[in-house]
Amino acid sequence: MAVSRRTVLGAVLAPAILPRPAAAEVGLARLVAAYPDHLVGLDRDVLVWTDGTRMETGAGRPERPFEVMLRDATLADQMRQTYPAGPPVGPPGRNHSPGRIRSTAFFVKMYGDCRMGGAGRRQRTVTWMPQTRPQPLPVTMENDVATRLERVIAELERLPDRLKAYLVPSAGTFNCRTVADTGLLSMHAYAAAIDLNVAHSDYWSWARARGDIPYRNRIPFAIVEVFEAQRFIWGGKWYHYDTMHFEYRPELIG
Ligand SMILES: [Zn+2]
Repeated sequence: MAVSRRTVLGAVLAPAILPRPAAAEVGLARLVAAYPDHLVGLDRDVLVWTDGTRMETGAGRPERPFEVMLRDATLADQMRQTYPAGPPVGPPGRNHSPGRIRSTAFFVKMYGDCRMGGAGRRQRTVTWMPQTRPQPLPVTMENDVATRLERVIAELERLPDRLKAYLVPSAGTFNCRTVADTGLLSMHAYAAAIDLNVAHSDYWSWARARGDIPYRNRIPFAIVEVFEAQRFIWGGKWYHYDTMHFEYRPELIG
């Protein structure tokens, strides 16, 4: 049954994807599938939202330098870098920071604009690590992010006690702020990100030397794995690493 279905779909879909780059097609299809509450599909190079909004994807445009895409990302750019789920195989390659390239227009529409007071009404309080050190944190309800974070918390509470020091206190979730080097809103501005205990964390700009950024991480993978299972990506897999940071980015993982 499954084989014949795949054959039929393959025969029908193959000619349609030939005129445009396959990578952009696949990436944008993943984007649509990742946010079913908000997105209905693609109309050629246009992303269509459930409320009828249409947004240019930038599919088919040539790749630009990383620093340019970081500050002015199209939706196709947002899907260019692959997030490597699972145990890290080594430090991230130069400028491989999957998730840092984000379309601000896309996330502001989805989660609200905190600069206009548009994010708070979509949040609810989640209790971080209630059995270890309870801490109330505001988290967006869009895409069930608050509920997904509660599933993460339930799993983290089951980890050995020696790992809890990495988790508490959390350095926060919602913060209407921009990212230092881009000036664009961070995922914290949408209440769709969380930082662990800053005392055991490493951040690229703290270590920045001339030229390459020396990679450093102390967060055990047992913690990362729990977040990845709920489709939160980890800043420890970025060349511009931020090892206390997790954000809900289902289009890049799962
Ligand atoms: Zn963060």
